[in-house]
Amino acid sequence: MAEGAPLLGILGGTFDPVHFGHLRLAEESFAALALERLCFVPSANPPHRPAPVLAAATRFALVQAAIADRPGFFADDREIRRAGTSYTVETLQAMTADYPDHHRVLILGMDAFNGLTRWHRWQELFHYAHLAVATRPGAQAVGEAAALLAERSMTADELKTRPAGGIVPLSITRLDISATAIRAARAAGRSIRYLVPEGVRLQLETSQELVE
Ligand code: ATP
Repeated sequence: MAEGAPLLGILGGTFDPVHFGHLRLAEESFAALALERLCFVPSANPPHRPAPVLAAATRFALVQAAIADRPGFFADDREIRRAGTSYTVETLQAMTADYPDHHRVLILGMDAFNGLTRWHRWQELFHYAHLAVATRPGAQAVGEAAALLAERSMTADELKTRPAGGIVPLSITRLDISATAIRAARAAGRSIRYLVPEGVRLQLETSQELVE
């Protein structure tokens, strides 16, 4: 095991709602990168996409319920508390100040990574964190993102000894689950059992939020 700083994983997303695709991404990243902790950060108003269907407080509560019994995982509501659009660069900047003894690793699926060069102040992300980019069914690295991946490629061990700026590709279990498909199933009255943790399903079934 490499010497160096402990690693904090940061998994941002809309989590509208959280599902097993997110949770396996977190679980497998935790092991592959030897993270010390992993933080889920639900966004309030994500740029580049329509407003979430579930309320921010509901999305946050469902994430908390989904990870409650997993030591090392926690959720952070800073983007929900912060007014306005949720920019990842601001979150990473703030988390750098809050976790000065850790090296931070922003975890992304390949679909999200392909849009990275359109993010607000995207070059600055590499001042504050490393990236880990995971396989996702239907998504391949393309264009500028593929070039970036080649340019900044690092091994998991290097993340501990270098403060930020690397990208580690991760091959994870391919689960073709998306929140979009879950919302569509709920709206059509179809079952979402076994796509989300049972606690999440039960909370959604007792609320009407996803079917309206
Ligand atoms: P939506 O369908 O509403 O766009 P989503 O299912 O893609 O949502 P997000 O909350 O947007 O979920 O995703 C947060 C992060 O998790 C992103 O980096 C995304 O690439 C990753 N992710 C989500 N689902 C999977 C999956 N099934 N496999 C791998 N990565 C995933």
